[in-house]
Amino acid sequence: MEKKFVYLFNEGDANMRELLGGKGANLAEMSKLGMPVPNGFTITTEACNQYYDDGEKISEEIQEQILEYLSTLEEETGKKFGDKENPLLVSVRSGARASMPGMMDTILNLGINDVVAATIAEKTDNPRFAYDSYRRFIQMFADVVKGLSKKRFEEIIDEVKAAKGITSDLELDAEDMKELVARFKEFYRSELGEDFPTDPRDQMMEAIEAVFRSWNNDRAIYYRRQNDIPSDWGTAVNVQMMVFGNMGDGCGTGVAFTRNPATGESKLFGEFLMNAQGEDVVAGVRTPNKIDQLAEISPAAYEQFVDICSKLEKHYKNMQDMEFTIENGKLFMLQTRNGKRTAQAALKIACDMVDEGLITPEEALMMVEPQTLDALLHPTFDKDAQKKARVITTALPASPGAACGQIVFSAEEAIEEAANGKKVVLVRLETSPEDIQGMAAAQGILTVRGGMTSHAAVVARGMGTCCVSGAGDIKIDDEAGEFTVNGETFKRGDWISLDGSTGAVYGEAIPTVPAEISGDFERFMTWADEARRMKIRTNADTPRDAAQAVKFGAEGIGLVRTEHMFFDGDKIKAIREMIVAKTPEQMEAALAKLEPMQQEDFEGIYEAMEGRPVTIRYLDPPLHEFVPTKEEDIAELAAEMNMDVADLTEIITALHEVNPMMGHRGSRLDVSNPGIARMQTEAVIRAAINVNKKHPDWNIVPEIMLPLIGDLKELKYVKKMVTETADKILAEEGVDMPYHVGTMIEVPRAALKAGELAKEAEFFSFGTNDLTQLTFGFSRDDAGKFLPEYYSAKIYETDPFAKLDQEGVGELIAFAVERGRATRPNIKLGVCGEHGGDPASIEFVDGLGLDYVSCSPYRVPIARLAAAQAAIKHRK
Ligand code: PEP
Ligand code: MG
Repeated sequence: MEKKFVYLFNEGDANMRELLGGKGANLAEMSKLGMPVPNGFTITTEACNQYYDDGEKISEEIQEQILEYLSTLEEETGKKFGDKENPLLVSVRSGARASMPGMMDTILNLGINDVVAATIAEKTDNPRFAYDSYRRFIQMFADVVKGLSKKRFEEIIDEVKAAKGITSDLELDAEDMKELVARFKEFYRSELGEDFPTDPRDQMMEAIEAVFRSWNNDRAIYYRRQNDIPSDWGTAVNVQMMVFGNMGDGCGTGVAFTRNPATGESKLFGEFLMNAQGEDVVAGVRTPNKIDQLAEISPAAYEQFVDICSKLEKHYKNMQDMEFTIENGKLFMLQTRNGKRTAQAALKIACDMVDEGLITPEEALMMVEPQTLDALLHPTFDKDAQKKARVITTALPASPGAACGQIVFSAEEAIEEAANGKKVVLVRLETSPEDIQGMAAAQGILTVRGGMTSHAAVVARGMGTCCVSGAGDIKIDDEAGEFTVNGETFKRGDWISLDGSTGAVYGEAIPTVPAEISGDFERFMTWADEARRMKIRTNADTPRDAAQAVKFGAEGIGLVRTEHMFFDGDKIKAIREMIVAKTPEQMEAALAKLEPMQQEDFEGIYEAMEGRPVTIRYLDPPLHEFVPTKEEDIAELAAEMNMDVADLTEIITALHEVNPMMGHRGSRLDVSNPGIARMQTEAVIRAAINVNKKHPDWNIVPEIMLPLIGDLKELKYVKKMVTETADKILAEEGVDMPYHVGTMIEVPRAALKAGELAKEAEFFSFGTNDLTQLTFGFSRDDAGKFLPEYYSAKIYETDPFAKLDQEGVGELIAFAVERGRATRPNIKLGVCGEHGGDPASIEFVDGLGLDYVSCSPYRVPIARLAAAQAAIKHRK
């Protein structure tokens, strides 16, 4: 049987999301539920993939199916493409499996040509509407399908207005619209050397192809990378009969959420515009009305809408984000989907829905994207400073949080300045999806236009970036690089602050304070802790970070990078002395200085962790990060060590390595200088003894971890230094304290030889940063320079240093886990590379049955939730 690439809305349902995309599946589901959905059909995601497999062509077979379904649609609606009596107009919209708001293309009013426009003018007795729709269609088609610049169309509109001496689009009459149509077509012909297509079937095929193509536009690719959406999912295309919100005063269009997406309040929340078309509300060009006002303007439609909203929320058991249109008083539903929301709202909605008996705690856990918790954990303004600060204007609190930065006016500037280490606030008239990378680079976003559902608001909420929108008092002068508000001027580079929770904009920098969490958060995280299997530890090198992580729920430390303890002030000198030591005496002197510092640091960390397990990783200073390079630093070190500057410079030159990441670091340092491991062991063991004496109930059991091991003999060799030293101290002190020695797995050879390493290692911790670096052969420090080209060429889709490469590096981990367990069945296994805080990677290692992940303090709550979700998925 031939493959089915097209489904009518009444042939599908919500479970067919993979095939029909989110929008298509939900339109089908709403049709099934008997809700008023304009008829239409969905071309599947498989058709999109087929389009790419066929060299970016829609095959004959798929075209035939589309035309067959078009005929069915014509029968169902009683309308026909190009008909003189009852013409059919359709919208052609993208719809991927996962919602990607604004990232791909949409075409409205498709099916208009001269004959159809004349017919609509006559039938509706509204020629202005007919020709307005026609000129909008030409504009959209030219932009989306043919890539013509939008700017020229706007200029033509301005020329027509100027000739008539008017300023507003609303003053354009039917004749003006006709003129626009003619001039637009002329421009189209002159640019493309062909006439604007008059056959609606050709228009439709080209539009469908353009939507398929838009799956691979730059912003869609960027969005997918940000949101872990694989590129082989493809997008579906929905072809749907148009209904008109812009046919007159009895018509309108809007968007609404079943609950407040910013606060989570259980109350219908939305916006609409009368006499407007679809994108007008979302684009934020006109400032919309609040949804409650619809009750007065169109009471019957409002009542029906409220009823549908409540049914949809109960049906999907999730907060819904819906689009609707009212055509001459009659309501039509154009979309429903699970609504994007702020982190606060997500938790409130999850907890409320459990209390309402709508969902179970496990379902609540699955409803919240782990990444969104990030927004809760970030700083807010210092309250006192905020009180004193000057509000220059107040607008819509579109995405919560506190942002403070220097003004920039374009996405490019935001990216550039952020790359230079500056904090910026992006100020825009309105944002469009092309701005997404700039929005991500900015601390906050301020827009002049747009409501709570505008592009800027939706995208910012998704990213957890603070956003204030609709600040209509602000006048931007792009050319001068400044904006004015209430008589005051702010220039590019001036500092401003945004409060995304109140909508206040401040004309100065306001200091921020760390986040405080409680209430719904605590309750929700308790559910997560009950559901997860893996333990969550943290990577912390100071008592302060350790304490912060404990507040966020860390159950131990999975990685203390002991060399990081020396970043602090004067301490770096001590480690430099060790690195450049030339004689055994110099080495001994350096180590003698380091030991008490280390011991004190370890005691601090043990104290902060209050008896929770702590894995201390031995020194791993890649030399290029620690050796002094500045003349004054070299001179200072020489003085400290009583050395000649020239001699020291010579030593430093000799230490230079061509590939420092693969150089003299990790346990290699201990093989060359056994004193280092001995010194560290002394510091660890003495610190543990001391803290145990103070807190006998903590029973600290030191966990010592050796880095960059690649061979069993190497591991044995260094481990011997550890055990000899530890046992000696314990015997001297007469203390009976167990301790464990394990290894990191971060060299591919270690993964391959894991079965042997497990003979000596009591635990493995996968150092996925180095393991990724060495498996790919990509320098951790330099890959950022060339990875973007790999994304563009679609060789790699994501940064393997952020998201674990499950196929390659993951395979090595899986292999090492299996071999390690074969040797030592109860070997403790964890991850302490950056991937320990990445939800997709956490899910992967949960699947391998690892015991814990360890991540930076601010990612601990994310990891707790991700581990819970992974456990729930894997239990199913
Ligand atoms: C790793 O390599 O994954 C790791 C945790 O060690 P570091 O980042 O300190 O090299
Ligand atoms: Mg490492």
